[in-house]
Amino acid sequence: MSRKTKLICTLGPATESKEMIGGLIDAGCNVFRLNMSHAKHEWATEMVRRVRSESQQRNANIAVLFDLTGPSIRTGDLPVPLDLAEGDAVEFRKEGANATTEKSTTVNYEGLMNDVSVGNTLVVDNGALLMRIDEVQADRILCSVKTPGTMGSRRHINLPGVRLNLPALTEKDHRDLALAVECEADYIAGSFVRDAAHVRELRETMKSLEGDAQIIAKVEDQEAVRNIDAIIREADVIMIARGDLGTEVEFEELPILQRRIIKRCHDLGTRVIVATHLLESMIQQPTPTRAEVTDVMNAAYEEADALMLSGETSVGRYPLRCVEALVRISTRIERSGGHGFGQGVLLRDERQKTARAAVTLADSLPDARLVVLTRRGVLANQVAMIRPRTAGFFAVTPKESVCRKMALTRGVRPIKLAFSSNIEETIQRVTEFLLKENLVRTGTPIVIVSDILSDHFAANSILLHHA
Ligand code: PEP
Repeated sequence: MSRKTKLICTLGPATESKEMIGGLIDAGCNVFRLNMSHAKHEWATEMVRRVRSESQQRNANIAVLFDLTGPSIRTGDLPVPLDLAEGDAVEFRKEGANATTEKSTTVNYEGLMNDVSVGNTLVVDNGALLMRIDEVQADRILCSVKTPGTMGSRRHINLPGVRLNLPALTEKDHRDLALAVECEADYIAGSFVRDAAHVRELRETMKSLEGDAQIIAKVEDQEAVRNIDAIIREADVIMIARGDLGTEVEFEELPILQRRIIKRCHDLGTRVIVATHLLESMIQQPTPTRAEVTDVMNAAYEEADALMLSGETSVGRYPLRCVEALVRISTRIERSGGHGFGQGVLLRDERQKTARAAVTLADSLPDARLVVLTRRGVLANQVAMIRPRTAGFFAVTPKESVCRKMALTRGVRPIKLAFSSNIEETIQRVTEFLLKENLVRTGTPIVIVSDILSDHFAANSILLHHA
């Protein structure tokens, strides 16, 4: 595999068939995302079954990601959408409270009136409508419309800069989490994660259900940005959820935040996904805009682990072309090199220092390959974070589930192979596999780094071997 940047596709009506799922795997998708804001349980179960079966047929390590809805604030049901002009007064009231103006809707968050203040901005539908909060009462808030538009039912509300006292997980999240565990999800994403305690709560709830998925923290508001270090330390993966984050901060701040978060993820050794609006125009059009090409190029240049498609593959007209576009753009920029944040990884323990030494050795040998022997994938992720430049970087592990947990780790190709209790035998098996698959030639230098305990071969070892 020459591409390092991994790709995530959101499944939806445009891609739910077995043929499309298979086609997306063939085109380069590494992870399928189920957006639980839209997915029904029966449908999600069937999608997981299809992804597993299509991946098995291709012997591909493809992961499944359940993206929980999280505690999002939404408007209530309206008999007809409200047409709003600049200056109109709009009321958002608690469920059960009577409307006092013509332009009135309920909100699903009881505590909203306690969290907001006069003067705050209220954003509806990801920026389609902007309002100013003029009055806060015990059971309602009154706003004036700043930008005209139409407000439909169950529209998403953002309150930039407001500290919300929402729970980490809603009742629905608990039900969806149980399904994710039942389906043996490889990754579970928590939405609107605001601090490290939210990540812990999600992980502990998942573990109490006996799940072993990795936890993705979606960074989508200013509070998460303020607590970013603690969140990065607590999560297995960070998702820069640019849809919501882009409405929560001034738009010129977004690319700066993206770059800072990616750098901090490198420093602290946590994987990172860039999500949303990468190829938005391709929902309708067969080719990306110049700006989109540049945006995708930038995320791959920043050496994010993975890029994520949402509407482009769930409802778009050109899902396969979108994946092909990401493959073309990321492969091209990878040839020119990347930002090099991997140089800044903070080496806190001996294992990370061993990882760095192995990468330095492999990168210094012409045409070398790098092999990590890893039981849980931890060492492989640490090596990947240093961003090795070798033409081949393989993580060998006996467990298929561990292979899938590396599906969004940049640059690594997971290989499922049983370890022998004798290390020479394990190395022999790995070498034979690489030769058989034409991934090395006889004589190719292979740097093997391992933290597995195996007879006399101690933990944290580096070995230089020739195929
Ligand atoms: C986002 O906001 O970018 C995002 C990925 O979240 P959602 O699930 O709300 O699309």
